[in-house]
Amino acid sequence: PIYMDNHATTRTDPRVVEAMLPYFSETYGNPGSVGHSFGEEAHEAVEIATGSIAECLHADPREIIFTSGATESNNLAIRGVAERNQRRGKHLVSVRTEHRAVLEPLERLGQSGYTVTLLDVEQHGSSQAGWLDPERVAEALQDDTILVSVMLANNEIGVIQSLAEIAAVCRHSGVLLHCDATQAVGKIPVDVRELGVDLMSFSGHKIYGPKGIGALYVRQGSPIVRYSPQITGGGQQGGRRSGTLNVPGIVGMAKALQLCVEEMPTEMERLADLRDRLLTNLQDRVTCVSLCGPATGERSAAGGRLRLPGNLDVAFGDIDGEALIMEIGNLAVSSGATCSSHEPGPSHVLLALGLGEDLARSSLRFGLGRFNTSAEVDLAVESVSHAVEKLRKLGAR
Ligand code: PLP
Repeated sequence: PIYMDNHATTRTDPRVVEAMLPYFSETYGNPGSVGHSFGEEAHEAVEIATGSIAECLHADPREIIFTSGATESNNLAIRGVAERNQRRGKHLVSVRTEHRAVLEPLERLGQSGYTVTLLDVEQHGSSQAGWLDPERVAEALQDDTILVSVMLANNEIGVIQSLAEIAAVCRHSGVLLHCDATQAVGKIPVDVRELGVDLMSFSGHKIYGPKGIGALYVRQGSPIVRYSPQITGGGQQGGRRSGTLNVPGIVGMAKALQLCVEEMPTEMERLADLRDRLLTNLQDRVTCVSLCGPATGERSAAGGRLRLPGNLDVAFGDIDGEALIMEIGNLAVSSGATCSSHEPGPSHVLLALGLGEDLARSSLRFGLGRFNTSAEVDLAVESVSHAVEKLRKLGAR
């Protein structure tokens, strides 16, 4: 089977595995055990990895907090800021198209006395579908707003939000800005200073690194970003997130990010070409294919891309995406029929774009990545077009 579900997760790059291996059974000390060489060596490995991650993101090493993944990072940022700043206000702003790992913590806060405003995005049919106009953020801010959370790149439709403009709006009003950059880090240039975010989540397994490791960037300096730790215990990481550090994971995530950044200039072009080839050939072979999300060649006002290079989401209208995936068989992609295996019903992201339930259910999401080739793209087009034709003949819904 061909793997084209790189937004869900990625294959760990063999170079990453190699970098991690010594930290399982050779350099296995606890980085918190500074009294002996085992601990010191592990501590040093973590220091080097942290420095490398910080450099890739133009951050300071002290601004990186390791977590178990982006879900935990999002929870730490949102719940931590809300808990710590509740005397200042209890209003939070986010977007309808965010990942569940942002929406769920917000929903929980909504049940315990906070108010949450979820903003709308540009609608299906627009060449900027899925894009959040920073003006909407400005309009949503209130005197009691404490946090805005906006993702950098969407995991379904690949739309890239204008974080720098949103950051300017937030800074002007003294409101903290969190960004879930899980799908952007390693895939498009991410510079925390240029983006102007206060907190930013990312994860190892989306960038050809291991699962179970992620980080939260927390800006240092003034004004101070205040938040309450959510996992307390041994006081590791300055008490900001307790628990023994995942040394192989940290080393692996650092190596993975470094490789992504080194290869980014050519890889972005390669993936955009593959994605364009996939879309063009699908449109040639299949009738009534509609693109979900922003136009692939669309640029933001600031001149940046509006869509992740490796992302494609298309709807077929009259077929169920799950049935289509079953029919295709040899291609690993995901469908908008369910947002995830844990969320029944059509994707909330596609519904937020204004797609009807049937159209949303008929969509396929492709996530092209490092190990995909143009031959695989051509095979995918073959498989999808045959399956669509067959299901349409059967009149299956
Ligand atoms: N945020 C976004 C945008 C994602 O795509 C994902 C991955 O599913 C997550 C958060 C959760 O990341 P993790 O699996 O590292 O918890």
